[in-house]
Formats: sequence, C-alpha cells, structure tokens
Amino acid sequence: MIHTERKHSRKRDAILRVIQSTTAHPSARQVYDVLKPSIPDLSLGTVYRNINLFQGEGAVVSLGVVDGEERFDGCVAPHPHVVCCRCGRVADLPCPGGEGRETGQIEGPEASRVGTNNREDTEGFVIDYRKTVYYGLCPDCAGERGF
Ligand SMILES: [Zn+2]
Ligand SMILES: [Zn+2]
Repeated sequence: MIHTERKHSRKRDAILRVIQSTTAHPSARQVYDVLKPSIPDLSLGTVYRNINLFQGEGAVVSLGVVDGEERFDGCVAPHPHVVCCRCGRVADLPCPGGEGRETGQIEGPEASRVGTNNREDTEGFVIDYRKTVYYGLCPDCAGERGF
C-alpha cells in the first residue's frame, strides 16, 4: 500500500516537474514522451489524470487546444502567449509592466476604461482571469518563409 502510494506520487511529482520546468507549454502526450523512458510503466491516462488534478489544484493551467492538442502551462500567473500558426509552438510573451500588471496597464482603446473604476463595465462579473493569445510565426517558421 505504502509502496503504491509512493510510486503514485513519484509519477505525480515527475509530471508536475516536467510541466513547471519548461516554457514549451507541453501537451499531455509530450509530457508522457519525456517521462516514458525513465518511468516505463507510465500510461498516457495517468498523465491526463494527474494534469486534471493539477488544474483542479491550480498548479497548472490549460491553454486550450493548440494544433490539435490541449496544451498546459506550469506558470499560473496570467501572462500573454504567442502561438505559431504553422508548427504550434507556444511561447510566453514578456508582460509589459511585469508585477504591476494588475494595476491596469493595458494599452489601446481599453486603457481609458480599465483601471480603478471598471466595475460597471463588467456587469457585476468578478473577473477570474484574462487570456491573451497572439498568433503568428515563430522565428524558425518565419525564417522558412523568407523573412
Ligand atoms: Zn513555428
Ligand atoms: Zn505560458
């Protein structure tokens, strides 16, 4: 029993470590591929199950489906992403304002509305998170296209 529990948590720790130690925003399958050589009895189902648990605990966030696979991020602080339309690579964008992002440092037309007094704009909603995704080509793919 104790042995089983330990094995279980070893896999769990390994899965979480892979997601948190990379900025590649891996899919469950990519996590599985990384760990399979060192954990031969790992199953893809176990990876999915643990990622679901991590999401429930707030340790991992889903970025939604990119290039046919759901992708995950071990950095749960809100930050903008850029997705390559060709190869599906997901990268973090440096967040303008860094730690000060919660203070309403938003550029563009929204800038005047968002800040200390935006309650009426949200119709009573309490905002949990805001998702910002940019789409384009990563340096490799842009290079291929001759930019
Ligand atoms: Zn690319
Ligand atoms: Zn990210």
